[in-house]
Amino acid sequence: MDDRENILEDKSAGGTGGGSGVKDRQEDGYEKVCSICRRPESRAGEMVQMPGEICMCHDCMQKAFDSLGKSGMDIGKFSGIPFMNLNVSDITSFLRPDMAVTKKQRPKKKEKEARTYTIKDIPAPHLIKQKLDESVVGQEQAKKVMSVAVYNHYKRTLLADREGEEGRPSDGVTIERSNILMVGPTGSGKTYLVKTLAKLLDVPLAIADATSLTEAGYIGDDIESVVSKLLAEADNDVERAERGIIFIDEVDKIAKKQQTNARDVSGESVQQELLKLLEGSVVEVPVGASQKNAMTPMTTVNTDDILFICGGAFPGLEEIIKERLRKKTSMGFGADLKDQFDGDKDLLTKVTNEDLRKFGMIPEFLGRLPVTVTLQQLDKPLMKRILTEPKNAILKQYAKLLAYDEVRLEFDDQALDWIAEEAIKKETGARALRAILEDFMLDIMYETPKDPNIGAVVITRPYLEKRGGPRIAMRGQMG
Ligand code: ADP
Repeated sequence: MDDRENILEDKSAGGTGGGSGVKDRQEDGYEKVCSICRRPESRAGEMVQMPGEICMCHDCMQKAFDSLGKSGMDIGKFSGIPFMNLNVSDITSFLRPDMAVTKKQRPKKKEKEARTYTIKDIPAPHLIKQKLDESVVGQEQAKKVMSVAVYNHYKRTLLADREGEEGRPSDGVTIERSNILMVGPTGSGKTYLVKTLAKLLDVPLAIADATSLTEAGYIGDDIESVVSKLLAEADNDVERAERGIIFIDEVDKIAKKQQTNARDVSGESVQQELLKLLEGSVVEVPVGASQKNAMTPMTTVNTDDILFICGGAFPGLEEIIKERLRKKTSMGFGADLKDQFDGDKDLLTKVTNEDLRKFGMIPEFLGRLPVTVTLQQLDKPLMKRILTEPKNAILKQYAKLLAYDEVRLEFDDQALDWIAEEAIKKETGARALRAILEDFMLDIMYETPKDPNIGAVVITRPYLEKRGGPRIAMRGQMG
């Protein structure tokens, strides 16, 4: 008779929690672990066994009853009744679906464990960059720096694994972590670059917003929530999560608040709390939820091999850089060169830790992000390239949609100029492109299928400026 039958028999006989089913299982030499608090039987006492391989200790069972009571359910009908008489779905409804665990997940994990990574699994930096080039336009230096940083990061984790496994004496050389700080205006492709990177490396990626994080105990997400997000992205596979990437966006918003007497719970304190994640630590996170509570099972994740990338627009940073550079030149003869940096497009690339510290980032935080990457503001030529070049360029997407109607879609060069100029006016980087296109492509996609004789549509600048219509070619006239 299998366990399940045992339990069912127990239930029908109204046996007390645990019963013979529990005893049978003890004989297999394994100790049961509470699905909620993760304590083993030896610490938590006798377990209540439920179908679906779920065990619950009596403490957690009590908490479940208390919650039922608080939520207004009539628990009178349960009181005094042995646990096993309780409808299991009442209890399991407290547990997340991913807690109805184990048997199915176990073999999957073993498959993963069998996979050992070697240096050959990590693409060389030039190959990483080549792949990035297919999707991300421009930002050459950023792509290069990130390709090397990522390559080194995964090499470091492989080396650490090997030294740990074989017990080889380390030669005393420890490779430092290469967490990355990305500085670049909004819409310049920071998130997109990280997403593309995670996809090509086939690692899970969690994107968190630094503005939603607060010091533990205050309203908002606590710091560990970013790790549980990563765990969720890795389908709760801890090992996969431990090799993933965490991207924390808008870190400029957690800069130290200037002149404040109140406790800075969403600024400097968040930087302080992020330190322990960035330098690698073991954190206890809820499985399948972002918030801890008594009902969610916990697991531990080691952040040592997780690659952390922090990004931000850092508005005002250019002024700080300019001021520093001006001071340097005015010490010599250059007082009259006051505005020499005003039109400098590459000013951001001159950023130093000193500037970032002045902006409000604490030195310890910057120390744990040794690689700084700067992205440039997208100018008109780059915007035009973004429209047409990437593998998944927006114009290619529209062309594909119309190709289903056997209509060729083209844009003349002045039309592209107009779109890029409009996007720059909006000051939201490449993000503006899609919104601008959607505005006028709606009419094209509505009108074109009306006439089956239309073979090609060419979008022109006068059409976009509402001074004329698009150029249309009928099927018979097409070259
Ligand atoms: P942010 O720097 O604010 O994180 P995003 O990465 O979210 O900006 O960029 C917004 C969108 O703009 C992306 O989804 C992507 O489609 C497009 N984009 C931005 N920069 C580039 C780029 N260099 N190459 C190709 N597409 C880009």
